Amino acid sequence: MRIIVTGGAGFIGSAFVRLVVREHGHEVVNLDKLTYAASPDALEEVGRDRRYRLLRADICDRAAVAEAIAAFAPDAVVHLAAESHVDRSIDGPGAFVTTNVVGTYVMLDAVLAYWRGLTAPRREVFRFVHVSTDEVYGSLGAEGRFTEASRYDPNSPYAASKAAADHLARAWHRTYGLPVIVTNCSNNYGPYQFPEKLIPLTIIKAMAAEALPVYGTGQNVRDWIHVLDHVQGIHAALTRGRVGEGYNFGGASERTNLEVVKAICARLDEVRPRPGGEPHERLINFVDDRPGHDARYAIDDAKARAELGWAPRETFESGLAATVGWYLEHRPWWEAIRDGRYTGDRLGLAREAAGA
Ligand code: NAD
Repeated sequence: MRIIVTGGAGFIGSAFVRLVVREHGHEVVNLDKLTYAASPDALEEVGRDRRYRLLRADICDRAAVAEAIAAFAPDAVVHLAAESHVDRSIDGPGAFVTTNVVGTYVMLDAVLAYWRGLTAPRREVFRFVHVSTDEVYGSLGAEGRFTEASRYDPNSPYAASKAAADHLARAWHRTYGLPVIVTNCSNNYGPYQFPEKLIPLTIIKAMAAEALPVYGTGQNVRDWIHVLDHVQGIHAALTRGRVGEGYNFGGASERTNLEVVKAICARLDEVRPRPGGEPHERLINFVDDRPGHDARYAIDDAKARAELGWAPRETFESGLAATVGWYLEHRPWWEAIRDGRYTGDRLGLAREAAGA
């Protein structure tokens, strides 16, 4: 299969590209703007593979997108490119609207024009998989889990921009017949995650004996999934999903943020004790909460399990231990980021007026 992957140099996109090129033998063109969040290093393993090619382009650039599609003639598009960090969306929502909403529109529009020109058999098997988040559903109380039928109720600018993109993707199926599948997944963790996100940020700060920021009281719950389980789900949706349907993926691992930070500290105490033997947990520092911080996300993934034969394989404990090990072993990768693109400072306090 020939796949255009957008955002394939990002955390999840690169895991998807590694999976489908190496394990499934698909041919991939990775269409990525290479923003601050991109990590071309994550694609070293496939860099010399003739089935893989990187094309630096912006999904908002209609001409570049159309040219890439015409030149590669894909059987599928898997759309992951996005601005992805909630805190940055609070400080600067404009980039989120541009890439996540307008960029998704450009992708859908260009792909539709291409799809209409295919022969009937190729039109039949073509897929556009739109990759999204559980944050579109808003916040849960203590009970319940999000299903594919849950009402959209986004709170952050990031979640609102992804919700808008999901609606556009569904509309392109319902109005124009484009064979779209939408996936919504819970919080991912694993190798090559940009160190602005909770798990890598905590690991790296703990290793440097810096204060470990925990937002509010640390009681916000997320359902953590290993990135490999997520990308296997995306591949299952691509190859076995029903057109026009949505599929939720979760890791069956609900944890409060404070539990996550403490679990990282406990793991580091085992594998890399501090010189004086002081527990890493002492570094925890409760800071101002994120404005509009959703209390709880939890996923009901029964539909993906039943229809796609998919299930998460990684437990949070083993996945987190492996992830801590990965960051310990890949210091040059994250040090280069900390020295240049992101120093670990607090983002998203909404103290300034929002702008582009
Ligand atoms: P990421 O920030 O690590 O990577 C995003 C990638 O998109 C980067 O390589 C970046 O260069 C590229 N990109 C950004 N703007 C672009 C543009 N205008 N044109 C082309 N490329 C552009 O993000 P991620 O965490 O890998 O998330 C990937 C997708 O999965 C996103 O759509 C996100 O909403 C979704 N998602 C993420 C999570 C999570 O926990 N990280 C959970 C569910 C869904």
